[in-house]
Amino acid sequence: MELEVSCDCGWSYRGPEPDVVRATIDHGRQAHDLELTPEQARAAARPAPQPRNARKR
Ligand SMILES: [Zn+2]
Repeated sequence: MELEVSCDCGWSYRGPEPDVVRATIDHGRQAHDLELTPEQARAAARPAPQPRNARKR
């Protein structure tokens, strides 16, 4: 399942969970001088809407 995260500053990222967590931590560190834990990064993400032609599980 893909996740999507967006920041108050307008930054957003979408991808598999490990990528989203890593990108969110990187973004917090680089853009906001903020050190997030993986748990915080994961909690900020939401499931991304699936494309219409995505296979159901
Ligand atoms: Zn931001």
